Amino acid sequence: MASQNLLLLPGDGIGPEIMVEVKKVIAWFNEKGGMSFETDDGLVGGSAYDAHGQSISEEDMAKAMAADAVIFGAVGGPKWDDVPYEVRPEAGLLRLRKDMELFANLRPAICYPALADASSLKKDIIEGLDILIVRELTGGVYFGEPKEITDLGNGQKRGVDTQVYDTYEIERISKVAFELARTRNNKVCSMEKRNVMKSGVLWNEVVTQTHKAGFEDVTLEHMLADAGGMQLVRWPKQFDVIVTDNLFGDMLSDVAAMLTGSLGMLPSASLGAPDAKTGKRKALYEPVHGSAPDIAGTGAANPIAMIASFGMALRYSFEEVAAADMLDKAIANALDKGLRTKDIAAAGEATVSTTEMGDAIVAELDALSA
Ligand code: NAD
Repeated sequence: MASQNLLLLPGDGIGPEIMVEVKKVIAWFNEKGGMSFETDDGLVGGSAYDAHGQSISEEDMAKAMAADAVIFGAVGGPKWDDVPYEVRPEAGLLRLRKDMELFANLRPAICYPALADASSLKKDIIEGLDILIVRELTGGVYFGEPKEITDLGNGQKRGVDTQVYDTYEIERISKVAFELARTRNNKVCSMEKRNVMKSGVLWNEVVTQTHKAGFEDVTLEHMLADAGGMQLVRWPKQFDVIVTDNLFGDMLSDVAAMLTGSLGMLPSASLGAPDAKTGKRKALYEPVHGSAPDIAGTGAANPIAMIASFGMALRYSFEEVAAADMLDKAIANALDKGLRTKDIAAAGEATVSTTEMGDAIVAELDALSA
């Protein structure tokens, strides 16, 4: 494997603690998995503000733009509650998403067998679940203009957000969904609200056209997003890849994620457009959770979401599918042996620390490669 550059941005709170565990996994793949990752560290969020007065420095931004993948921890915490809005910790993450044009957010919901009992749904509904939500991340109602609160002058105010999508935005996200489906169970369900929203009518049309224009081998179905939410909790295993807009994706991916347990288990990937010359997409991988200031420094953080985010990098940036499968299996095996950080432990069950969980996953990699 040619050498690949990873920029590691641990961030704040538990970010640096879980990044230590990912570094062990990267080192394992370099030493024993035949890979060649070169890593560089940078600062983002509150830690960058403390060092540079910015939530990410220009130097680290340039490194992120040049990296083969960015591995991101989490940002924020009460320490920075009063810093100016433009340099608040989250601004660093938003700048990365914007400058790297990361329009596709991928959130898998996978149920590890050992945790099937921990779901709020019945075991047979959740056991073996493996779905992927592809959410449009840079358009829609979170960004559309006008976006304002106006004073109507009669004691009333009016809040306006605008849901807006252009053809190219829908086309590129649906292509990502179809391409990913081909590497999985070859099925895409597109969700919108075409019954009440014009943007939903266009979404439906463009997804259908994109499907006809080169992805007819993939099974496509359409579902209204509210019905989709219902189906996700009724029988989630009917889905493979779900593609949806920014707003619906925000909600549906949280619903899907919680089917499978703790925030500490959930990885994500954000991808940009393929480079015209190399075909490689800019990419950032991060756990879904935040910086968990309430447990930072206590050794209680679950490193699995962070480690599984690196697994997504193996799968989606480096096409190392066998290595990604192996890492997922190592995580599953550690869980099968009963290892639990506090967030996934049942009442009274023994728990392990962040470091112990990281070490156990590395030991499982050793066992799998023996
Ligand atoms: P959070 O995700 O940090 O924590 C929510 C709860 O889940 C907490 O009780 C926490 O202890 C627990 N938790 C989270 N990750 C865990 C893990 N890996 N292992 C064990 N338990 C874990 O959300 P919050 O408390 O709402 O926010 C805390 C800070 O994080 C805020 O400053 C917020 O702005 C920021 N935040 C950042 C991101 C990001 O960097 N992408 C995302 C969400 C929140």
